[in-house]
Amino acid sequence: MTKQSLESLPLTRLKGVGPAMERKFRQLGISSIEDLLFHLPLRYEDRTRITAIRQARLGEFVQLEGKIGSASVQFGRRRSLQCVVVDSTGIIHLRFFHFSSAQKNALAEGSRIRCYGEVRRGRSGLEIYHPEYSILKTGHEEPVSDTFTAIYPTTEGLQQGRMRSLINQALNLLDQAENVKDCLPDEVIKQFKLFGLTESIKLIHRPPLDSPLEWMDADANPGAKRLAFEELLAHRLCMRRFKANYAQRRAPALTEGGKLIKRFEGELAFKLTASQRQVSAEIGADLMTSTPMLRLLQGDVGSGKTLVAALSSLRSIASGFQVALMAPTEILAEQHCANFRAWFEPLGIKVGWLSGKTRAAERKQVLQQLLSGECQLLVGTHALFQDQVHYKSLGLIIVDEQHRFGVHQRLSLRDKGGADNLSPHQLVMTATPIPRTLAMSAYADLECSVINELPPGRTPVNTALISNSRRAEVTDRILEACNSGQQAYWVCTLIEESEQLQAQAAEATKRSLQSKLQNLKVGMIHGRMKAAQKQEIMDGFKRGAIHLLVATTVIEVGVDVPNASLMVIENPERLGLAQLHQLRGRVGRGSTQSHCILLYQTPLSENGKKRLTVMRESTDGFFIAEQDLELRGPGQVLGTQQTGLMTFRIADIGRDSSMLEDVKLASETLSTKYPESVGPLISRWVGERVQFVNV
Ligand code: ADP
Ligand code: MG
Repeated sequence: MTKQSLESLPLTRLKGVGPAMERKFRQLGISSIEDLLFHLPLRYEDRTRITAIRQARLGEFVQLEGKIGSASVQFGRRRSLQCVVVDSTGIIHLRFFHFSSAQKNALAEGSRIRCYGEVRRGRSGLEIYHPEYSILKTGHEEPVSDTFTAIYPTTEGLQQGRMRSLINQALNLLDQAENVKDCLPDEVIKQFKLFGLTESIKLIHRPPLDSPLEWMDADANPGAKRLAFEELLAHRLCMRRFKANYAQRRAPALTEGGKLIKRFEGELAFKLTASQRQVSAEIGADLMTSTPMLRLLQGDVGSGKTLVAALSSLRSIASGFQVALMAPTEILAEQHCANFRAWFEPLGIKVGWLSGKTRAAERKQVLQQLLSGECQLLVGTHALFQDQVHYKSLGLIIVDEQHRFGVHQRLSLRDKGGADNLSPHQLVMTATPIPRTLAMSAYADLECSVINELPPGRTPVNTALISNSRRAEVTDRILEACNSGQQAYWVCTLIEESEQLQAQAAEATKRSLQSKLQNLKVGMIHGRMKAAQKQEIMDGFKRGAIHLLVATTVIEVGVDVPNASLMVIENPERLGLAQLHQLRGRVGRGSTQSHCILLYQTPLSENGKKRLTVMRESTDGFFIAEQDLELRGPGQVLGTQQTGLMTFRIADIGRDSSMLEDVKLASETLSTKYPESVGPLISRWVGERVQFVNV
């Protein structure tokens, strides 16, 4: 058999992949078998043994095997399929909120099933929601897996089990085919003692027999190190290339915007902090040159970045150039829109709105106003950089809370300058405090401004750790706070790959809280709600018509309701500290003393205890970020995702920080001596984002 290059081998070569499946993979940026091999696990799960049902503990992930005693569709507030599973030691319930009729038929009484999932407390005792499962053939012993099971990022309609079996097929092909093409020159591989690429890929998808569950983070895993190195290198090269291209362009040299800015400041209810003044001056100096600005604005939650964005916008508008302000979520974008309208419309500035959900007629109008120049500031979500959006003369792009965006989305906006081939200036704002050296390495030395003080008059949020067993006390606290005119958040933090399950958890929590707090109005907001619905809820909460807002982490960024002074975060031990800090930043915005209750699940691990203690003892974002890096042990539930900077497939800025210097050296070597390797490396790891860098 002749060996084939996996790079050009289409996915349809795999058993079970047709055109529909191929399209789903495309959404994940996977179009060849080689791409699939570079689709790396998020983490691993232990399915090497079967747990007796009696031994299944609340909150644990377990693999169970038993007979289906009964299965029935239940009609409560939500239709669900419930199966009772029995083994020789006990019974447990499985619950499915989404199921096909084929699934329902297979999950029939008498079938033998093996399933894996998290044990929760449900309506009828211990339950597992949406377990991964397989129906076992009768009279056939199904062996358990010898090694840990890899869990992959997926997309709706592409199940974990399917993903795993396809990657397995791809790995089998890899055994027969040529190696995966190594883009790194030997010189670099030798200098930094990097492990072989093909071997690394095998090692990461199929952890060896004796590997620890935290295999991804294990010191003994040279494969993960190699891949992380390569990924960081690719990102750095991409940023370098982008920066170099960008520096060759011309931007409009903006004026100081004196009169407009004076009028704006005159209308403000407060004075700028010294730090806001300082960074505005730094940004202003950049904006006055004809080299496009590329600047990162860092400032802790609540430090007043929006105001700095407003001042920068006014410079552009006063100079006759438009501004695009982009936020990662609809809620945040809407809030910005409301703020900027309130600030700018009295000054006679036209503020437009565009999101993916804007209706056709309205959209057409906004696009026209953009093209004519009538719309001077456009606020919205990533819809701002779709192909059909053309500006008359875009002078400045502002991206808020940028870590939610991919690099590619930031980069594509710059080609929207419009007239005279000018490229807009860019300001990227983030509340994720990144130790400076890390930021520099990761962003290939972007310019950086830091707001290092909070506006005066803030009382630091008081944080308490309370165990879940004292839940009743916590609801009493909410009642008390709301009765005295305050408002509260209740944050559900289910870590699931699916928004659907998060939404369900929030709904269940809302029901139970509303039944305990009958005199209060409890509202709920989550990522799966329609934009108009979200808007209505947020308005209600702002007006005070809703006392308690149950939310998923969608409220993490930017939401600003000063009267909310109490926040309860469920299962905080599951979140990264940076994320907790963001969430907590939603309270403490008014003048009353605010409280944050971290309602943890017992027992707490040693590391978990330490991490939550950091939250109790500090409200300083930079300190918290440093502690997070230090304490981010292998036990980190979120694994490689929580870098706060960019999403990587395997690299983790915290864990891999010691590599950054080497990565920097390697990027010099590649750029100067092996420029032909740069493109393939970028397209392998940064994928589709690359097209924006090359244009
Ligand atoms: P973040 O940096 O988290 O985006 P915001 O821009 O949302 O912070 O500001 C947080 C709150 O602080 C807002 O309600 C804003 O109006 C207020 N604020 C901003 N600057 C000042 C200031 N100089 N003095 C007083 N309040 C301010
Ligand atoms: Mg903000």
